[in-house]
Amino acid sequence: MNYSLYFAVCSIVISIILITSIYMKYRMLTKENLVLKILVWFVLGFNLLDLLVGANGKAYEMSGGWVMVVNSILWLFRQLILTGYVICVASHVDSRKKLPRAVSVLLAVCNLYGIGLLVANIGNECLFCVNDAGNLINGTGAVLYYIMEFGFFLIGIGYLTAVQKYLDMSRRIALYIFLVMPYAGIILQYFMGSVHPEGLGITLGVLWLYLNLPKADRLVDPSTNTLNQYALVNKLDSVEAMGWEEHTLVIKFRDRNVLKDTYGLDVYRKLLWDVAALLMKRVSKENVFYLGDARFVVMIPKNEKDVMEKANSILRELQNPWNVYNTELTPWVVAALLEMPQDAKNMNDIFNYLEYLAIMPALKDGKVYEGKHLDVAYMKRYDEIEKAIDRALQQTSFEVHYQPIYSQKEKRIVAAEALLRMHDDEMGYVSPEEFIPIAEKNGKIITIGHVVLESVCQFLQQTNIEDYGIRYIEVNLSTLECMQEDLPREIEEIMNRYQVDPSQINLEITETALAQKQEILAENMDKINDMGVTFSLDDYGTGYSTMTYMMTLPFKIVKIDKSILWSSFENERAMIGLRASIQMIREMNMEIVVEGVESEGMAKRLESLGCDYQQGFYYSRPLPVDAFLEFLRKYNK
Ligand code: C2E
Ligand code: MG
Ligand code: MG
Repeated sequence: MNYSLYFAVCSIVISIILITSIYMKYRMLTKENLVLKILVWFVLGFNLLDLLVGANGKAYEMSGGWVMVVNSILWLFRQLILTGYVICVASHVDSRKKLPRAVSVLLAVCNLYGIGLLVANIGNECLFCVNDAGNLINGTGAVLYYIMEFGFFLIGIGYLTAVQKYLDMSRRIALYIFLVMPYAGIILQYFMGSVHPEGLGITLGVLWLYLNLPKADRLVDPSTNTLNQYALVNKLDSVEAMGWEEHTLVIKFRDRNVLKDTYGLDVYRKLLWDVAALLMKRVSKENVFYLGDARFVVMIPKNEKDVMEKANSILRELQNPWNVYNTELTPWVVAALLEMPQDAKNMNDIFNYLEYLAIMPALKDGKVYEGKHLDVAYMKRYDEIEKAIDRALQQTSFEVHYQPIYSQKEKRIVAAEALLRMHDDEMGYVSPEEFIPIAEKNGKIITIGHVVLESVCQFLQQTNIEDYGIRYIEVNLSTLECMQEDLPREIEEIMNRYQVDPSQINLEITETALAQKQEILAENMDKINDMGVTFSLDDYGTGYSTMTYMMTLPFKIVKIDKSILWSSFENERAMIGLRASIQMIREMNMEIVVEGVESEGMAKRLESLGCDYQQGFYYSRPLPVDAFLEFLRKYNK
């Protein structure tokens, strides 16, 4: 066997290892990986054919005619590889960007020229022929073919030089090396005659490229099979280079923690996997990115007809109920469409929007927000509030205020709602409407919940509230607290510590808590009920599905939200709604509190509608303990 055969065998072995490795190791998601995969197959084909003709057909008893055919195909494969190289470079520049027309035309010209020579060779054997000794030799016209190869080289180097600024250093070097290797082989072959190192040169070139693209895997997120944030960084670079021809749709599953805690990790992971699959179906695979924490980014080209409609239709699909491992769940998804570069031009901006989607309490699902309408600057305040919460917890400066609840029948105050107040040295007063959702988001609400309950229990221990005509205090429970399995034990522990009569505590739960996994909640409620603590359903009328909860869970009281009362003064239908709600709740044998009573007119109306209790500024604002007791002394005397 001569050197050519050693080279060919060696190249085949490397090609096979490469192919196996590519298939085993990489999820060939991106176009650049796909192009590389095809290229490696061509290289293997080239090497196999090279082995055949390297043996001059003799080893296989191949006739001279067959050697000519195989060698022609071999030369065709060479053209395919040289063409593939240029496409490979393009695939690294931007996975969606097509080759510039001029480059495509030049490639076509070179290929046609090469094919023309090969066809002509059938008749005149000017490129190569099999001599009398049965050896394959180059003809005098072979130089014409070398001109074509030089043409490919010029196209390759010209294009690579033009686009190299979009490539990172390792790709750049790998592509230059890959460019040079086949030609080094060809030149060696030219000078060394019968030795064929060309195939080896090509193989080593593609090997180098493969080895320098470990990112193929690093770019894929294994939990969703989409591209990850490193891929997005590259993508943004190329989007910028291409003149920002894309929109970015950022998607966040707001209830990530609840989904995870409630349905378990398996269901949560499968949900993300299914979501990713759906997104990849809606837009191409190279345009879906997963950034962890239930955050997706989808790139939509600007030339799409109606980008906003497309974004909305994607969101609608995400919000449909999902069936995951036989569990039906409806995630809470929020999304924003960002125009680039106005709204976002780098990862930092994208992360900011996602963070904003994750935390802003007022955001609704079911609608894609426009980036320009979102006040991302609010994030700064959000950070400050988080710090203020930490300070308040450290300095135990949270205060509980009490808002009286008036009984219509007894015409006096019979209960009160405990409402948390935060006065920060730096930020001043921050409303619970603002800081409670933030504390729910970062989990601090659990500690805050304990602080409030302890403070209420301490108050109940120190004050005989019955002396003031008060029967119980209502304490707000957050969604997150409701989902804690050891909630009953903790409540019991605190009540025992302060020797509080459980009937003096009523826990308020809002519908957002109810919308989550009901089993844990129902179990918690039953256990806590057994201790003698009662429950109120807070903010009735603001959610979608209060009715089922009211029918199935052991509520003693329903608190009608202030917005319902207020709108009843604005339109007749709301008035009918309020009246019917009151009647229905009474018939369900629950007591009714209406919140937000601000005027005598409101109080009178509620009286005529026959609700049990009223709460609002008309009676009193939430007051600090001393002022509250003072108020009671006067009001209930
Ligand atoms: P909520 O539980 O529905 O509490 C009633 C809110 O309505 C209180 O707002 C109260 O000050 C306000 N309000 C009562 N009467 C009137 C009125 O006549 N007019 C107007 N305009 N407002 C009235 P606040 O204290 O700002 O609390 C807002 C929300 O923050 C509460 O809504 C509750 O969801 C949450 N929150 C407050 N304290 C706590 C707490 O200790 N734990 C938890 N988890 N949430 C709390
Ligand atoms: Mg409340
Ligand atoms: Mg309320």
